Amino acid sequence: MFGIILINILLCLTFQNYTDMRANMVENQIIKRGISNPATITAMQKVPRHLFVPDELQPFAYDDRPLPIGNNQTISQPYIVAYMTEQLELQPGDKVLEIGTGSGYQAAILAEIVEEVYTIEIIKQLGLRAASTLKNQGYSNVFCRIGDGYHGWKENEPYDAIILTAAPSNVPKALFEQLDEEGQLIAPIEKNGQQYLILYTKEKNKIKHKRLLAVRFVPFTRNNP
Ligand code: SAH
Repeated sequence: MFGIILINILLCLTFQNYTDMRANMVENQIIKRGISNPATITAMQKVPRHLFVPDELQPFAYDDRPLPIGNNQTISQPYIVAYMTEQLELQPGDKVLEIGTGSGYQAAILAEIVEEVYTIEIIKQLGLRAASTLKNQGYSNVFCRIGDGYHGWKENEPYDAIILTAAPSNVPKALFEQLDEEGQLIAPIEKNGQQYLILYTKEKNKIKHKRLLAVRFVPFTRNNP
């Protein structure tokens, strides 16, 4: 009996601890650095980031840095997740495509804001784990697929926004094709060993682009290039 009470107290303390850590993260890493989009801030406050990282790294989940998630891949730094989300100017009815599911954390943040999120992961083990985490967290509006995101996900086009969380040297043509008119695509693009986040906007006959932050993402890989 005493043991059960003690376990409950410990569980409560741990839960409270992660909630506090998340509130601090949002205040110090997100709001103080200039993220102001209310939907993005609310999503960052809500999603339990510690449940998207390996168990042994949970105490570090709210640190100001990326973390390893296995298979040589990483979950992005919280600020970068919030920054990319804010740049997409998402609306509640939007449909978003993500290339690079990884842990599923970015997909969960998007799913808090928009109607439907489609996400593709090339590494089977990661894709399956993310799908199960998202399901356990009740995200019924996230649709996961294992495969090479180079080809996009044609069945559900057009997307109001597309986000790449692995760095190619150019945006695959299929992704621009599956982006809606006026839609926005954000991606880390690698040129000469240096990566920048680029925000692309699709307009009638052209694609406009704007260079944003210098970043460091894992490479965009291919199954059968
Ligand atoms: N958005 C993730 C970050 C994952 S890191 C998160 O919130 O945790 C980027 C991921 O992109 C890695 O898991 C990597 O395996 C995946 N990736 C790389 N190239 C890919 C491709 N061509 N198609 C789909 N996923 C890819």
